Parts: sequence; structure tokens; C-alpha cells
Amino acid sequence: MSTIETTLREIKLYIDGEYVDSSNKSMFEVRNPATQEVIAHVHEASFEDVDRACKSARRAFDTGPWSTMPLAERCTKIRRMADIILERKEELASLEAMDVGKPYQLALEKEIPRAAHNLRFFADFMEQQGGETYPMGEEYLNYTRYEPVGVAALITPWNLPFMLTTWKLGPCLATGNTAVIKPAETTPLSVSLLGEIAKEAGIPDGVVNVIQGFGPNSAGEFVTTHPNVDLISFTGETSTGKAIMKAGADSLKKVSFELGGKAANIIFEDADLDKAIPVSIQAAFMNSGQVCLAGSRILVQRSIMDEFIKRFKKAASELKVGDPQHPSTNMGPVVSEEHYKKVTSYLEIAKAENSTLVYGGKRPKLSAHLENGYYLEPTIYIQNNPKARISQEEIFGPIVTIIPFDTEEEALEIANDTDYGLNSVIWTENLQRAHRISHHVRAGTIWVNCWFVRDLRAPFGGFKKSGVGREGGHHSLAFFTEAKNICIALK
Ligand code: NAD
Repeated sequence: MSTIETTLREIKLYIDGEYVDSSNKSMFEVRNPATQEVIAHVHEASFEDVDRACKSARRAFDTGPWSTMPLAERCTKIRRMADIILERKEELASLEAMDVGKPYQLALEKEIPRAAHNLRFFADFMEQQGGETYPMGEEYLNYTRYEPVGVAALITPWNLPFMLTTWKLGPCLATGNTAVIKPAETTPLSVSLLGEIAKEAGIPDGVVNVIQGFGPNSAGEFVTTHPNVDLISFTGETSTGKAIMKAGADSLKKVSFELGGKAANIIFEDADLDKAIPVSIQAAFMNSGQVCLAGSRILVQRSIMDEFIKRFKKAASELKVGDPQHPSTNMGPVVSEEHYKKVTSYLEIAKAENSTLVYGGKRPKLSAHLENGYYLEPTIYIQNNPKARISQEEIFGPIVTIIPFDTEEEALEIANDTDYGLNSVIWTENLQRAHRISHHVRAGTIWVNCWFVRDLRAPFGGFKKSGVGREGGHHSLAFFTEAKNICIALK
């Protein structure tokens, strides 16, 4: 169990190597979603603050030693950041639990170690990169260089604040760019520490900046329209991605977007249910279902519907919903009041669409100190109509829809009948079918008989409205660099 003290925090902006107040004294509050208790007062970056952060990142890029530093030295500093993150993992995990409402244990065992790995991986990976050479006989020689682009805006959502920010920061820094980070306004606590972590690791001032605030007409919009910003790496909602693409269009900023999802988790009649059920429970309810990769549309072959539902329901009923800081908790609240209203509005929508409630659908009974928390039981519906709103829209909470199908063709049609295409999960013991379905589902990641397994070298991103571009391995390095060809006359 976490032991972090719960004193009220003041979250400042980190600009040019210093924590500073907002220039116009504007502040906003952050609450613990398990209790509604105010846990932080946050300085909201004004236009002037964002301007200063972008200019400091520009100066650090143009004149500083970062992009021209010997690669081994730069990567050593990034690996040092990873070490500091691991040294402070309990503190960071506790902040995530307090801020997002996620189980402390999930943050401690998975997300914070992964955040450290994100930085270490890209530092190591960058050191292994080469370039291309194209000799033109004895006359000319071409060779390529991959140079940093410049100042990157890294804009992240609230569901995995620290992990997702480092997923962008790793390749951004390893390739020699400088960064202006804008974490979600709902969950700024852990990411705000990246300033002091960077400083302690010896990263020069101005290379990493963290600004706080909202999206439209606030820090998010100011950074995406700033003339000193060359590229935008964004993770969040599809609708926000559209707004950012428009905002960055005037200055032709390079963009990489990781957006929403509504993944089909397809259970064929020959699936090994002993494996499929516990993993599907994770895919449905991990982080209270607030995971872009959640398997929130469960397609089940009709011949095994009864058995699947019986076992899936039992497993959902065994999840321990409660205090995020308690080590045995499997599921906490959703992140905020606003999000709770959005998620619970789908209970009415499900009813209006004649969905069958299998489990959940109400506030769980919890101890007194959690009575104001934004809790919802793990909730399961059956919906025969794949076009129903609960079958189509990203709810981003602990609500899943089970949709029956009869044939492989029908499963494929339902799986692809969505605006999203981030990922899909297939459960079958039939090798040919596994390949067939994997090839035809239009999504960026397909997991066969597993879920959430990540090799950081592999491409990650969405088809359709789930994203633009890919992250991971050399895909991230390509985004954060400009390829240059140099042609030398040899005679
Ligand atoms: P969001 O789009 O509301 O906010 C994300 C970030 O964008 C926040 O920092 C926010 O302040 C900022 N923002 C909002 N409007 C902006 C604007 N006009 N200009 C600039 N910045 C703006 O998303 P969220 O609610 O924080 O996160 C949930 C969403 O993120 C879900 O749709 C989920 O699927 C998606 N997500 C995707 C992935 C992925 O890898 N594909 C991973 C995690 C979350």
C-alpha cells in the first residue's frame, strides 16, 4: 500500500529549467476521483508562459548543446532519467493512483517501470541506428543523415499520464529534439515531476519544458499554433486530433496522432476459454476500461454464448472495486465528474437501445470514505445490434457490449463496422483462421490469444479514425527526424 502523504500540492510550470508560477496567476484545481478531495492547485499557463516555454525549447535546440551533443552522452542522460524514475517509482505510482484513480499496484508494477523502459529503450535503440549509403560508381557517393526536427509539442491524455508522456519523450530526446510537454488538465501531477527528473539527469535547461492547462483557448491550443513548434505528437480523442490538425495546418507542422478505439475482441467457438476469459476481463476493465486498446466490443460465436456469458459474468463479479491505494484493488473509479457523467449516460442509452444488462450498471457499495468517488460497477450488456451506439461509440469506462455472431464472415464484418481501427483481439485454436482474420481486420495491432503485449520495436497506431502515423521503434525515430541525403562528387 502506498504511504505517500496527501498534503495539498501546488503544481507549477517547468520552463527553461525552472519551476515558475503562471504569469497571470490563473490556477485550477485537481481532485482525487476516489474521494473528490482537492489534491492540487495547478498554475494554468497563459499565452505568455507557453510562448516562453516554446522560445526556451527553440533556443535550446538552436544554440544549446543537446542536438549536437555526442550521441553516447545524450543517451546516457536519458538512461539516467529512466534510473531516477525507477528510484522514485513508489512516489510516481502513488501520484498516478491519486490523480487518475487507477490501482496503485497497476501503476507500480506496470506503468512506471514501462515509463522508465520507454526512455531506456529509445536511448539504446538510437545508439544502434545507422544510415544508408548509395554509391554511384566511382563518381558520386550519397549518404543519409537523420537529423532532429526541432521543437516538439507532446500532448498527452489522462488515462496513462506518465507512461504515455515518456513514450513520446524517449524518441523525441534520443533523436536530439527539444520538448514542450502538455499533460492533461485532469492529471498533471506525475508529469510535472519530469522537469526535476530531467534536471537531475543532467539534461540542459530548455530541453524539457512542462506547461499546464486546458485544450481550446488555453495551453493546448497555444502550443499547437506556436510558430516555434515544428512537430506535434498527440494522444487523445479523435475529435481533438481533428482540432489539432487544423490548428497545425497553417504552419504545416508535422503530426503524429494516437486516437480513440473500440476494439473487437472476437471469441470463436474453438477458443480456449480458460485463457480468453481472464484476459478479456483485463481488456474490458483494466484502468476502469479507460484504455484506448480496451476490448470493449466482445464478439462471441453464438454456439458458446451461454457458457462465455456465465463465466465472464462470474469473473467480473470477482473484481475488487475500491480504494485505488489498496494493494488488492482491481478497479478504481473513473477519472472525473465530467467523465463519470459521460460514462454513466451510456446506461440510459443502453436501456433505450433494448440492451440486456448481464452484470453491473450501478454504483458499487463501498466504504464511507469512498462514497463521493466516481465509481461504477464493471458493467456488461448483450446487444444484438452491432450498429447500436453502445456497440459503436468509445465509452472509455467499465462498460462492455457482447455481440453474438454465427460465422467467421459475420464476425469480420462486425469487427470492421466501426470508424475506429486501433486494435483487435482474436481467440481461436485454429491457426489458419487466426491468420485469415488477422489479415482482414482493419486495425493497427492484432493480438491472437493475448492482449496488451508490447514489443517497443513494433509499429503502434491506428487505421481509420484511430490515428495518423505510427509510433514504436524506427517509426518513432522517423517521425522525430528529418532524413537528409548528402551527395558528394568523388572526382
Ligand atoms: P482529449 O483529447 O480530451 O485530451 C488529450 C489532451 O489534449 C489533453 O492534454 C488536452 O488538454 C489536450 N487538448 C484538448 N483539446 C485540445 C486542443 N483543441 N488543442 C490542443 N490540445 C488539446 O483526450 P482524453 O479525454 O484526455 O483521453 C482519452 C482519449 O485518448 C480516448 O479517446 C482514448 O482512446 C485516447 N487514447 C488513445 C491512445 C492511443 O495510443 N491511441 C492512448 C491513450 C488514450
